[in-house]
Amino acid sequence: MNSNWQIEQSCPQCGAPVVLEEADRILTCPFCRTRLYLAHTGYFSYHIPVVSKQGGEVIYIPYWRLKGAAFSASLSGLAHRFVDANAVAVKLDGLQPSLGLRPQTLKLHFTTGETPGRFIAADRTLEEALPQTAQKAAETFSHNFIGETVNRIYSPLILRNKEFYDGVLGKPYPPVKPDFIENLLTRTAPPEGEIKFIPTLCPHCGWDMEGKKEAAVMTCGNCQSAWALQEQTFEKIPAVVVLADQNEKTVYLPFWRMKTHIDKIGISSRADLIRIANLPRAITPELEKTPLYFWSPAFKINPNLYARLCRQMTVLAPCGKESQELPAANAYTASLPVDEAREGITANLAGLVVDRKRLYPLLADLVAPLDEYRLEYHPFLSNGRELVHRGGIAVDLTALSFGMKL
Ligand SMILES: [Zn+2]
Ligand SMILES: [Zn+2]
Repeated sequence: MNSNWQIEQSCPQCGAPVVLEEADRILTCPFCRTRLYLAHTGYFSYHIPVVSKQGGEVIYIPYWRLKGAAFSASLSGLAHRFVDANAVAVKLDGLQPSLGLRPQTLKLHFTTGETPGRFIAADRTLEEALPQTAQKAAETFSHNFIGETVNRIYSPLILRNKEFYDGVLGKPYPPVKPDFIENLLTRTAPPEGEIKFIPTLCPHCGWDMEGKKEAAVMTCGNCQSAWALQEQTFEKIPAVVVLADQNEKTVYLPFWRMKTHIDKIGISSRADLIRIANLPRAITPELEKTPLYFWSPAFKINPNLYARLCRQMTVLAPCGKESQELPAANAYTASLPVDEAREGITANLAGLVVDRKRLYPLLADLVAPLDEYRLEYHPFLSNGRELVHRGGIAVDLTALSFGMKL
């Protein structure tokens, strides 16, 4: 299975060919040095280019492509697994259920309204196509999916003399029912998901913003601001750095700090959290008034470590002297958008509650509203093997390379 796709795109400025990884959010042209941020409408839309040169009409079939972490809470606890899958997005018998084996060298192209060919409309939702993202087992109470990648991939079929052929391999498609062709062709619609290239200039001061290629958050070193895409424009997001003592081994890891209210369970303060998680701490009137925040890593990491860091940071509620001056060289890239981190709140809560019998039924279908959020850079000390927070939280350095690079 081709699990990591590459995308071929010509530089919108000079036309030179550029190759992108699936997780890349920034196109950097090696020829003219143009840097552009990739913006989409909901998800990225790609197509597999036609390789077969035998002629005929090209028909593109949509597939959902998904990669990320799935969490589900049952009475035996919080379970998680890594999902990497694709499935056809059309409800029609006869179509290949998945993209199948593809040559590793095959590169995707962005699909736009100008892409030639006939496109078939998708009528299966992501949840219908890939139930890994939805609630599955009857004894499962809540299910959350934190997506690293959710894409649409159009795969080509060739229609020639009323016979179908695979547009990549050129092989005849498995036999179909007589009304299949007619049925398929009535489903034609323009491709979904448009790509837009946005200059990486700070919307506030015009400075060229910083961010590694997978960055979900761009930072401006001139006016010390942080920006993330909302729809297709950069919006300013609140960001702070929790300061550390001067130490050259300090590395800053980005986390989302999120405030929510969950009326069904009635938790809104630190004291509420201490009660439901049965934490070994005395409840003071002060803690009854202290708002409850949930933390999530703002970087991609394996599901096991993700769940642990969410829990440890939320229990610790790290704070300290803050600065608006964002770290430059020694900070990890924030590559997980806050919308995905928000999906982790319920899973985090499920991992914390002690009285599962009473509280898990209340977690079912719970969507935690995001009342307030900000990006926080927390100092960790590197000892060469792991990064350690002064609150005792450790992150193995090899685990950090899972979804990202320093
Ligand atoms: Zn260029
Ligand atoms: Zn700026």
